[in-house]
Amino acid sequence: MSSTKSTETAATAATGGASPEIRYNPAEIEPRWQQLWAAQTDLYAAEPASSGKPKYYVLEMLPYPSGQLHMGHVRNYSIGDALARYMWMQGYNVLHPMGWDAFGLPAENAAIKNNTPPREWTTANIAAMKRQMNRVGYSYDWANEVTTCLPDYYRWNQWFFIRMFERGLAYRKKSKVNWCPKCCTVLANEQVINGRCWRHEDTIVEQRDLEQWFLRITNYAQELLDGLDKLENWPEKVRTMQRNWIGRSEGAEVDFAVEDAAHAPGDEQEPERRKGTAVLPALEDATTTGSKITVFTTRIDTIYGATSIQLAPEHALVKEFAAANSELAEQVSTLLDQQRQARESGDIGEIEKHGVFTGHYAINPFNGERLSIWVANYILAEYGTGAIMSVPAHDERDYEFAKKYGIEMRIVILPRRIEEADGETEPESTLPYTAEDSLLINSGEFNSLGNQEAQQKMAAFAEEKGFGKPTLTFRLRDWGVSRQRYWGTPIPMLYCEKDGIVAVPDEQLPVLLPDNIEITQEGGSPLAKLPEFVNATCPKCGGPARRETDTMDTFVDSSWYFYRYTSAKDDRSPFDSAAAKYWFPIDQYIGGVEHAILHLIYSRFWTKVMRDLGLIKNDEPVERLFTQGMVIKNGAKMSKSKGNVVSPDDMIARYGADATRMYSLFAAPPDRDLDWQEDGVAGVSRFLGRVYRFVMKAAPGMRQPIAVGGKQLNASVAPILELKLHQTIHKITQDFAGRWHFNTSIAAVMELLNLVTEHEEAIVAAVESDARARDLITNLVLLLAPFAPYLAAELWNEIGGTSVINKEPWPKADPGKMVESTIEIPVQVNGKLRAVVRVPKDADPSVMEEAVKADPKVQAAVSSKETVKIIVVPGKLVNIVVKG
Ligand SMILES: [Zn+2]
Ligand SMILES: [Zn+2]
Repeated sequence: MSSTKSTETAATAATGGASPEIRYNPAEIEPRWQQLWAAQTDLYAAEPASSGKPKYYVLEMLPYPSGQLHMGHVRNYSIGDALARYMWMQGYNVLHPMGWDAFGLPAENAAIKNNTPPREWTTANIAAMKRQMNRVGYSYDWANEVTTCLPDYYRWNQWFFIRMFERGLAYRKKSKVNWCPKCCTVLANEQVINGRCWRHEDTIVEQRDLEQWFLRITNYAQELLDGLDKLENWPEKVRTMQRNWIGRSEGAEVDFAVEDAAHAPGDEQEPERRKGTAVLPALEDATTTGSKITVFTTRIDTIYGATSIQLAPEHALVKEFAAANSELAEQVSTLLDQQRQARESGDIGEIEKHGVFTGHYAINPFNGERLSIWVANYILAEYGTGAIMSVPAHDERDYEFAKKYGIEMRIVILPRRIEEADGETEPESTLPYTAEDSLLINSGEFNSLGNQEAQQKMAAFAEEKGFGKPTLTFRLRDWGVSRQRYWGTPIPMLYCEKDGIVAVPDEQLPVLLPDNIEITQEGGSPLAKLPEFVNATCPKCGGPARRETDTMDTFVDSSWYFYRYTSAKDDRSPFDSAAAKYWFPIDQYIGGVEHAILHLIYSRFWTKVMRDLGLIKNDEPVERLFTQGMVIKNGAKMSKSKGNVVSPDDMIARYGADATRMYSLFAAPPDRDLDWQEDGVAGVSRFLGRVYRFVMKAAPGMRQPIAVGGKQLNASVAPILELKLHQTIHKITQDFAGRWHFNTSIAAVMELLNLVTEHEEAIVAAVESDARARDLITNLVLLLAPFAPYLAAELWNEIGGTSVINKEPWPKADPGKMVESTIEIPVQVNGKLRAVVRVPKDADPSVMEEAVKADPKVQAAVSSKETVKIIVVPGKLVNIVVKG
């Protein structure tokens, strides 16, 4: 305690004399640095390619400007910010931009609720969030800010749209669309989750028929799939989700001729037949109507086991059959209702299966057998061909249906090895048997083939005979981009009575979104009610034309925004190709896993289109992807309705931005969910306070030139401190390069500080003339720079640093100093163990004796006694003989 007075004096001098003790006050430190940083506009600016440094593009997903940062944002951006600052310190030319995904429905809802125009609402929100981001201290290159609702950005959405239109990649067609009655607009398939709107979890999505604009993402389906194999630095779960979404399946189409009912033997009213229990024997003289049913199947190897055909209620042939049979027509309409209800409640996969026999038959082209044709409510018109062959012995759904309606089951595949078949039990009891690795039986000339081989041979056979072919299908659908809303990019298309659909000429871009508009939730696109917007001139014939009033899905905005960051001021092209070539692919992208299929598939598609337009060379936009966990509170996602929202502003006001952001990195590994505990923030704040007080005590000495002949660190202490310091540097460096366990990185700095605190007085005293003490303090401050930038900047300044700390080189771990180089020596006083003292491994007797004498426990044990003799056994033990 003896030195307290002098350090207080030193600290008072360093902080301007206002406070009698050293107190960490982020509310004073942070705004001061924020002002200084704001004045240095090039502080975080990316350098040109000519800088000669290696480039590093780190990006966090841009936010929707709701007006308020939430803790999820803080966590996301704190990860990216720590990385950006670290990479600068590693000598990289870093691009670390930020922008605003500023179009979208909430602005319109707010406009209706508060009578504020969407533009005003959005602009105010952006300003508020930018203020918050700057308060947290994020290192963004604001010179390249992108705001998607501004014409200088969305004109390029329009430009891209026209390029795609010219290449047939943007097209218009009537289709069944997903309609959210709350959004009053169309949703993409990707925006329908369990039959409900992605924004309105309680709202069932309806089906409507509408003319819509589509982008032909399916042209790139195979490439999008293949590319996933190369994205090794993406989380496996994201790649799996994309693979499933793209849903490639190899299969075959087979045509089943429809038998002419007039010539069919038997009576369709016959109960047995109506039940369809038996496959009727082949008829040599069966005639067909000339129409055929094309069936899509992924299991053509089981076609000899087909015992009926199932059609979707909306299949063209069903309409034909129903037109001639009013009873059937009525039954079909019931099936259709069931299907619609199941679709709307989002559980079409769980629908209770119902079907109706049509009274008609089709011929299996492989064996000439007659199969009853049914209409079933679980067959969807838009998947495959809207018709399936039913193989109940080898398909779950077919099995369930056949069991219900008493349709025959015929086994045509068996396990390769008989022991797998469980020969003791009846084959029927193990049905349906669906294994891929199997052998064919009861399949004519294809018997005993393995199923893989059979699939190829049978599809080829069908093609050769002209009744089928191998096919490739994808689950991925074209991207419906039309929205009947106001706050989005106007689709730059015109309708002329003479010329049809005509693109707006490039020189007339942007098609500006008008401001003077009344927004309502009903009655289609608000733009349609504005004659001065709708009425236009056809660029081809000069006659009157009608402007498209739909706007683009906002996922268009986020599909390419990160290219714009490389040259956000470019007014002649979407971005400068040379700049994009330099910066792309993005080295590290960070965001929530909820974007695994929407944004992250669309942006991969957009990149491929831009490559094909010759704008870029890269095939993929993102080299490495990280998806951070959620921030939860009391076990649940933070939400207003649960009342468990923690505001970043509150936390910053109470503990400072450094403590808030550092806690968000410290409380959990970044890929896991983080349960927010205010105690934890307080704990991090106390830690930062300890660092502050320690460094401030040493600061006056650090600012002086190093003196010769002053106090040195004790020979027994210096190696321990060096060992811990270099282990800590090594650990944090490893973590940044590897698994991003910032929680353990920060814990390592805390441990280092604990050790430092044990020797605090000695270190502070040695700063005057011991380079090792100075090194320790300098490195401690540098290690904090990526995590607590305000405190690091303040302390860097206090210890005499004049440069920007985040451009200082990152400390290097010295392997030579990372080896344990000290040993513990027991110290006896008159033969009794009194202390254990750490000394260098190879310490000679005089160093050992010095270390022992300096130990407080030893000093206590020998105080007021006369030392007779000190026996030193090098590397082993010290014994002190005393008298009195
Ligand atoms: Zn909705
Ligand atoms: Zn025209």
